[in-house]
Amino acid sequence: MAVEEPAVEEPAVEEPEDDSDSGGDAEPDVGPLGREILDLFRAVHRLEAQLSEKIAAFDASGEWELDGSATCQVWLRYHGRLSPSAASAKLKTARRLRLLPRTAEAFAAGEISSDHVRVIANGTDVAESLDKNDQLDAEEVARLVAEAEKVFVDAARALDPGRLCRVVTHWRHAVEPQVVVADETEKVCRRKLHMSQTLDGRFVLDGELDLEGGAVVKTALDALMRPPCPGNPRPTASRRRADALVEVARRSLDSGRLPTSGGEKPHLSVVVSLETLEARSGAPAAEFDNGELLSGEAARRLACDAGVSRIITHGARQALDVGRRTPTIPPAIRRALVVRDRGCAWPGCDRPPEWTDAHHIVHWANGGTTSLDNLALVCRAHHSKLHEHHWRARLRSDGKLEVKPP
Ligand SMILES: [Zn+2]
Ligand SMILES: [Zn+2]
Repeated sequence: MAVEEPAVEEPAVEEPEDDSDSGGDAEPDVGPLGREILDLFRAVHRLEAQLSEKIAAFDASGEWELDGSATCQVWLRYHGRLSPSAASAKLKTARRLRLLPRTAEAFAAGEISSDHVRVIANGTDVAESLDKNDQLDAEEVARLVAEAEKVFVDAARALDPGRLCRVVTHWRHAVEPQVVVADETEKVCRRKLHMSQTLDGRFVLDGELDLEGGAVVKTALDALMRPPCPGNPRPTASRRRADALVEVARRSLDSGRLPTSGGEKPHLSVVVSLETLEARSGAPAAEFDNGELLSGEAARRLACDAGVSRIITHGARQALDVGRRTPTIPPAIRRALVVRDRGCAWPGCDRPPEWTDAHHIVHWANGGTTSLDNLALVCRAHHSKLHEHHWRARLRSDGKLEVKPP
């Protein structure tokens, strides 16, 4: 694909020399197509600057009233076909830009983008609150902003808007820490997490977290986003993040430290008939206590280790045995398993013990014993392979697990 590369590179080497001859700024060598793109970016910034200037003039003129619009923002929304938030952001920036001559100049020259301008415009509105609180007189405020603006515009020429925002936030904090506190409070107030269930039983998550809350969640998820097992197809980052979220919840349930409800620690209950647990043909599906159904094989996997309470029903759903988080695997046996397997026993898998379930090679529901010669530690992904995907496992005499595809 890149066979033609050397031919393109040769003339490009000479370009910087041309630049130094003409005494201009040393522009990075980006190739002809890259150069066109950067020129177009500049042109877009220049057009955006013109648009902003016109909006500010239009706003001040009151011409938006001619068609009966209640405000300039309403006019922009309707005629510019903008969302309410986009219209109000454009108007706010246009108004503030009239007070920021250096920013307006760099914008009009196409040197900085509308995102940079928005960061500077929003960041310098701290001046308004200083003015209102009578901490400084108008002249002092104007001088303060003018000094800062020079620094911000220089920074905007070199930094992306996200980094520029950090520079501006440092300044806001130095000038008036209370506005930074107010910014944070506003973000905290916007926090939300929606969790809805689809008709076929999946859960859809959507939400927004403030800076600190989001950082806590991200740190916990990152710690549990283990790389995939060698030899397995690499799952996407979003899939590993989804697994990590489930793992965080599973571990906090297992820790037994969550607050009780109705005198019981929160836990996951599965209602399953004995014939389903024994994998007899014609057996019904299993049920979570909220009524959602799951396959008998998934229920066999959950019942295989101790993570869930078990209510085993017989025939017309009579409770045969109600387990209250009684571990199926006694702690001494689990410790011996950890010493023997040192993590997932699946050949080639390196997941540590805390990621594993103890799998009964012959399920206890089919008469298998809870003893070392019938147990192996397997990670959740490999536990699913053994149940839902019907791989077969056998313990060799040296204690190693041998697996065969179905
Ligand atoms: Zn199992
Ligand atoms: Zn594994």
